[in-house]
Amino acid sequence: MPDKPIPPVDSWAEPFWAGARERRLVIQKCADCEKHVFYPRLSCPFCFSDRLDWIEASGRGTIYSYTLVQNNPPSTFAQDVPFVIAIVELEEGVRMMTNIVDYDPEALRCEMPVEVTFEPLSDEITLPQFRPLAE
Ligand SMILES: [Zn+2]
Repeated sequence: MPDKPIPPVDSWAEPFWAGARERRLVIQKCADCEKHVFYPRLSCPFCFSDRLDWIEASGRGTIYSYTLVQNNPPSTFAQDVPFVIAIVELEEGVRMMTNIVDYDPEALRCEMPVEVTFEPLSDEITLPQFRPLAE
C-alpha cells in the first residue's frame, strides 16, 4: 500500500508550515482591508491587495461541518478508520479543512467548540488538527 500523501508546500505557504512545525497556527491578514485569509495566497481574495501579513490565530474555533468516515476510505487512509474530516471555522472567521481528533463520536456536532493540536508527519510537515474543547 502506498504511503499517505504529504501536502505539497508552495513557497508562499511556507510560513504556514513553519508555524505548524513550531505548534503555532498562523494565517494571513490583509494589511489593506484587514480581513483574515485562509488558505495561504499571494493576494487578498477580498480586495486583491498583495500586502498579506502573517498573524498567529487563537487556535480556537467551532465545527462548521464534518463527516465521520467509518468505511470505504481512500485505501491509504484505511488504517485510520474511523476518522473525522471537518471544516472548522476559526475565531478569526476563516474556514479550514482538517481532522477532528480525540473525539467522542456520540458527542460530535456542528458548532462544537474545538482547539488546535498538531500532528508531526515528517521533519518538514506538521498537520494542524482540532480536538473538542471542554465546554
Ligand atoms: Zn484585502
